[in-house]
Amino acid sequence: MGRVALVTGGSRGIGAAISTALKDAGYTVAATYAGNDEKAAAFTSETGIKTYKWNVADYDACAAGIKQITEELGPVEVLVNNAGITRDAPFHKMTPQQWHECIDTNLNGVFNMTHNVWGGMRERKFGRIVTISSINGQKGQFAQANYAATKAGDIGFTKALAQEGARAGITLNIVAPGYINTEMMSTIPEKVMNEVILPAIPVGRLGEPSEIARAVVFLASDDGGFVTGSTLSANGGQYMS
Ligand code: NDP
Repeated sequence: MGRVALVTGGSRGIGAAISTALKDAGYTVAATYAGNDEKAAAFTSETGIKTYKWNVADYDACAAGIKQITEELGPVEVLVNNAGITRDAPFHKMTPQQWHECIDTNLNGVFNMTHNVWGGMRERKFGRIVTISSINGQKGQFAQANYAATKAGDIGFTKALAQEGARAGITLNIVAPGYINTEMMSTIPEKVMNEVILPAIPVGRLGEPSEIARAVVFLASDDGGFVTGSTLSANGGQYMS
């Protein structure tokens, strides 16, 4: 059996592509999800990848879930913090609830997951942590003050912790996707997609989840051992950082 890789939000969208690509690369994969049982069951029957349900915003649930996966599959050596949500609103209409929901999932969730695998990775002197940020955390986006704050926060978190992990054999990196063809995109009105988003992407199309997954597989691999604290932008040239 290969190394154990845990992908949060790994049952659909970009996360499903990451889970599948890691499995194809020889990892034993555990994919988590929040509540969509139907999608998770369909994903498991299609791929054979086991799914686990908990809310990444809940620290104790993360601790219990990681313990269960460790007992069933082995210690988590690769963590992909992929679970994420949007709660878009222009700031004058943004509610405290929309703000906190984003922070709880996209930023606190990354802390909760990483903190619970950190001790084991330090003991084993090996770990790979890849967090999925966003182009909108790099450049900001109208009506996404909450989301952009979390995704920028994930980048700062990764750069800081990469310094702590370096001597312990743990790398931390960011993949920052541009607009990717997933259900998250279905919330964007067609007019905005055709008249605003697509014209702004130099390659002239949305990215595919598999294109993000391949970047993650590299950063998780032994070959990626000298890459840490970096942000890999995969956005079709929309934002060149
Ligand atoms: P989807 O909405 O398609 O899937 C989200 C996944 O995360 C689902 O598996 C969902 O579970 C899970 N999830 C959501 N909230 C929680 C939670 N609180 N606890 C545990 N799991 C949770 O998202 P995408 O595939 O589009 O996005 C994946 C990541 O990529 C996100 O971090 C997103 O911000 C980022 N991203 C996406 C872009 C895009 O264009 N799609 C662009 C840039 C970044 P369930 O199925 O149960 O709801």
